[in-house]
Amino acid sequence: MKRRGLLIIVSGFAGSGKGTIMKRLVEEYENYALSVSMTTRAPRPGEVHGREYFFVSKEEFERKIKEGGLIEYASYVENYYGTPRAYVEEQMAAGKDVVLEIEIQGALKVRERYPDAVLIFVLPPSVEELYRRLKNRGTETEDVVRKRMSRAAEEAGIIERYDYIMINDEVAGSVRRLHNLIESAHLTPGRNEEFIRGIQNDLVRLWKGEE
Ligand code: 5GP
Repeated sequence: MKRRGLLIIVSGFAGSGKGTIMKRLVEEYENYALSVSMTTRAPRPGEVHGREYFFVSKEEFERKIKEGGLIEYASYVENYYGTPRAYVEEQMAAGKDVVLEIEIQGALKVRERYPDAVLIFVLPPSVEELYRRLKNRGTETEDVVRKRMSRAAEEAGIIERYDYIMINDEVAGSVRRLHNLIESAHLTPGRNEEFIRGIQNDLVRLWKGEE
């Protein structure tokens, strides 16, 4: 039975470590496709156009919005971020589980359009750990770190609207747990209606045949 690809939305505070987990997830398992977002923010050292993000100008981003080329977009700490439509639709049609690593406004918009999407919120083990990770990243100014912490405080109020939380204490364990969680999501009756109906019909047929 060919299974349908799921849309997996992963959000989490800046510094929750979700980016690292996503990268490892797609490296270790074959059934995932990681969507590459478009953004107007400047690349950080080591980031590559087309790998971490498509880095574009504000004008280019706005053109893409007008063309209907984004599933969703949001502004986050003074920049635009959005999910290109074509890749997501192609990969889901091919049966892949497509992972979007996006912030909460975008996640909730995606849920409206794709009610079957699975929303997962990645949390750090503690707030002290979150602050330490953000500072140690060393790529952001003190001002940006402050803005990101204040944004985290706002986002914390929305966690209950997600389907699952995932506490990222240690990378390897978190990647495995995330994969297991997604595999479980595939097994709800609602996502296997055709298979269940087949079993039900066959049972009825068999029962009638024996009479
Ligand atoms: P960063 O600048 O740290 O790479 O990302 C900032 C925030 O933007 C993160 O919470 C990240 O999940 C979110 N983000 C990245 N891509 C997208 C996107 O395509 N759409 C939305 N709504 N958020 C995104």
